Amino acid sequence: MAMQLPRHLRARLVAGVTACSLLLPFALRAQQPNDTAYTARIREFTTEPFFLTPLVDHLPASDRVPTPLALLGHISGARDVLTYPEDIYRYLRAVDDASDRVKVLSIGQTEEGREMIVAVVADEQTMARLEDYRGMLARLADPRRTTAAEAERLIGQGKPVYWATGAIHSPETGSPEMLMELVYRLAVEETPFIQAIRNNLITMVTPVIEVDGRAKVVDLQVARKQDPKTSLPRSPVYWGKYVAHDDNRDNLGLGLQLSRNVVRHFLAWNPTVLHDLHESASYLYTSTGRGPYNAWIDPVLISEWYRLAHREVEELTGWGVPGIYTYDFYDGWSPNYMFWIANSRNSIGRFYETQGAGDASDRIVRTSVDRQWSRPNTPLPEVVWSIRNNVNLQQSALLVALNEVASNREEYLRNFWLKSQRAVAKAITEGPAAYVLPASDPRLAQQARLLRLLQLQGIEVQRLSAQAVAGSDTFPAGSYVVRLDQPFSRTADMLLDRQYYNPTDPAPYDDAGWTLGPLYNARTVRVVNADILKAPMTLVNDGVRPAGAVPDSPGARAFLIAYHGENDLTAFRYAHRGLRIMAAEAAFEADGVNYPAGSFVIPMAGNPGNLPSLLASAAEQYGFAATGVSGVPEVTTHAVAAPRVAVVHTWTSTQNEGWLRLGLDEYRIPYDYISVHEVRDHPKLHERYDVLIFGPSTNNALSLLNGLQGDQPVPWKRTTLTPNIGRQDATDDMRGGLELQGILNLANFVKAGGTLITLQNTSVLPVHFGLATNVSIRQTPDLWAPGGVFRATVSEAGSPLVYGYDSELGVYFNSAPVFVVSAGAVTGGGGGGGGGAPAATAPARVTDGSTTARHSSRGGIEEQDVVQGRPTDLGRAGVEEFRKRQSARDTAAAVTPNPARVIMRYAPDVKQLLISGGLRGGETLANSPALVDVSYGTGHVLLFGFNPFWRSETLGSYGLVFNALLHHGQLGRGRTAPAPAVTATR
Ligand SMILES: [Zn+2]
Repeated sequence: MAMQLPRHLRARLVAGVTACSLLLPFALRAQQPNDTAYTARIREFTTEPFFLTPLVDHLPASDRVPTPLALLGHISGARDVLTYPEDIYRYLRAVDDASDRVKVLSIGQTEEGREMIVAVVADEQTMARLEDYRGMLARLADPRRTTAAEAERLIGQGKPVYWATGAIHSPETGSPEMLMELVYRLAVEETPFIQAIRNNLITMVTPVIEVDGRAKVVDLQVARKQDPKTSLPRSPVYWGKYVAHDDNRDNLGLGLQLSRNVVRHFLAWNPTVLHDLHESASYLYTSTGRGPYNAWIDPVLISEWYRLAHREVEELTGWGVPGIYTYDFYDGWSPNYMFWIANSRNSIGRFYETQGAGDASDRIVRTSVDRQWSRPNTPLPEVVWSIRNNVNLQQSALLVALNEVASNREEYLRNFWLKSQRAVAKAITEGPAAYVLPASDPRLAQQARLLRLLQLQGIEVQRLSAQAVAGSDTFPAGSYVVRLDQPFSRTADMLLDRQYYNPTDPAPYDDAGWTLGPLYNARTVRVVNADILKAPMTLVNDGVRPAGAVPDSPGARAFLIAYHGENDLTAFRYAHRGLRIMAAEAAFEADGVNYPAGSFVIPMAGNPGNLPSLLASAAEQYGFAATGVSGVPEVTTHAVAAPRVAVVHTWTSTQNEGWLRLGLDEYRIPYDYISVHEVRDHPKLHERYDVLIFGPSTNNALSLLNGLQGDQPVPWKRTTLTPNIGRQDATDDMRGGLELQGILNLANFVKAGGTLITLQNTSVLPVHFGLATNVSIRQTPDLWAPGGVFRATVSEAGSPLVYGYDSELGVYFNSAPVFVVSAGAVTGGGGGGGGGAPAATAPARVTDGSTTARHSSRGGIEEQDVVQGRPTDLGRAGVEEFRKRQSARDTAAAVTPNPARVIMRYAPDVKQLLISGGLRGGETLANSPALVDVSYGTGHVLLFGFNPFWRSETLGSYGLVFNALLHHGQLGRGRTAPAPAVTATR
């Protein structure tokens, strides 16, 4: 397609801006005077004229509304200036005070207690009727309640909402600056182009999504400006409280406050577009992705992506800006990005990647990009770049998009209505009809967590008021139904369906699979038969909670709680650490009820007299049922522990362990948060802690050992110049890692009875440094298993680590590490009986015909030498007698088992291995150990090959780690006879 500029279109859409408008876009300026000081600075900080467009090469003056320069002392995109969130808010609230066209809303708090906001901009008449416009979008969003005639009227009267969000990624610094100026421009400028936006569209702006991280980034920039030689890190080691870049991967689990705040605001407003601003491409990429596209969205959405992207590329390219492109960059498969809130809800989600503003200093940017069909206008090999350039390009392209949606207001609203209609029709047209979460699931607390997540996602949940039959499925009354004839049916289907990612497709940009049912260890049934929709059911208005219950049982000697691996029972245990709680080591029956191993036995003896009432209130809070029994069941038990826990972090990467902290916090499990330096510096860790959890970090054992390197101390702490950092943990010097001393301290900790848990890649540590006897890491060059859901099976059902689990679990695995557990430590029992036992087998007889097989003597090569001058069976009777006695002793004594006990394996059949995602070369993963418990001294090292704490999506695996806490000191229980060790078969 020729890149010639379609002038007729340009004239219509850009209202008089010509292709040569860099010279003098008079039509844009109308009679309105410019703010000359501000405009002069725009030009001063723009490094090249081709990074300026007619939309942003000036700023109109206002005698009422302050500019960023007037209020903050600098323009948006001033050299060497980044603005703190509180100053951005102060500015936007000043604009709100001065203009009837702007209103600032608060949308919630961050984990560190900072506010998140939305600034709304539209003309005065629209602003005065905001609630009406909100109501119109709500009615268009739900075709069940809106007739086609009414929809047509709403499409005529309504206004789309376009929500632009900045700085979810904290080191991507330009968008908050840009969005301040955008709000001013939309409120003040009187050109037909801007008026079209203001009169036909409601623009929403969140200048900073990751507010906690922005504060830290500005701290570092301010400190560096004060002291250019500072040894502070260039990039913050923490962004938000828990995670960094992954704050944009939380749209499935909604674990972070920023996600919850954005979802809540989205559900209240049904924005037509949600547009997230990023910075990692030269010079501006506008999203469509390149596929494979998410399989659950309406195809119309994909056309909308391209339509918007092509408008922006065309306009900016027409103005002579180099390096504007679309397509490629990401796939469009996983819905875990924040802007997918919109894509999965009949709206439009999109993003930019622009050349980064960095620390706001000017710099030379080099790129080497070959021309491609999707990128005909390549970036320059070398150019001087500035933060103002970033502001110019982001703002220009965004204004083009705003104008496009405003100018085609009805079309975008009609598409929204159309997609909403088809989402409601989905249950019948393409199916499935519903997902059912049956009342017969033994894990009602896990089920409730999943249902509450769906509700948080805005998905309606219903409950069967009677038994329902749909085809071959029968569901008991009380089962939950997620109907797919609701507006957000696609969100629900996306979360609960299985994913298949073909290995020959381009590599996935992020996770390939995420099915939440197996990851939550909750049963979900995909029901195709539409009869389920006719079953009697009622909408659940409040958050789903399992009905906890403790029936009155006067005279009970003990209370029993069936344990099915629900996380809430660990929360209960920690909340009531004073209680005497025992765990059954085997399944048992009481009063006709079956209790699996791990079930809680809470005797009256040794517990406070108010135990029944205490349990009654706890049962409600934690969603369990406790039953009083007249006698303590006769089953072997041990005490349920509530050990002292520390989470260990490195100073090189903190994000992936952040999900572990979030999971522990969610269930209020207390822990200390310590760095590898504390492990290194404290030889007696066991005096402080019982369990150390080393979250995922790096798969490089030496990097864990060496840590951050450098010539000068690298501090991470709160100072007057950096008041926002040092909150999660602080140090004068981040350099250095565990060191060998840290390994020794860990070894001594475990020897003394401690439990060391390593998650996913940090499992290389105990393997490489000798704390995991008989475990090694298999090189798997042929395995392709990007982040997804894989089937793991329990291989040691007696281990307390898998109490409450079924024989299978869906776990999150991402390519490595794959363990090999070898034999080698199975030796004779001994028991103080003298010296070393004789070798079990005689040296192999060499029968290859070699003449060196035995020394020169009598007979053929197969024959024995005969020493002359003594009986040939001299001493044999004694040896045989000794062997008999030894054999009897071995049989009687326990055989020392392999110290490495494989608790879970990946599914042995490669065809059964993948639940959701992609897989090639799965033979190297099938049947490999997934969770290994290695005895070391009197303690244990637990190696997880999968990640049980991933992005708030894996609540079904949390319980494996929680079991390690509840049964600290008892992990060796339930051993079956030493299984034949499985060695590598490569
Ligand atoms: Zn980004």
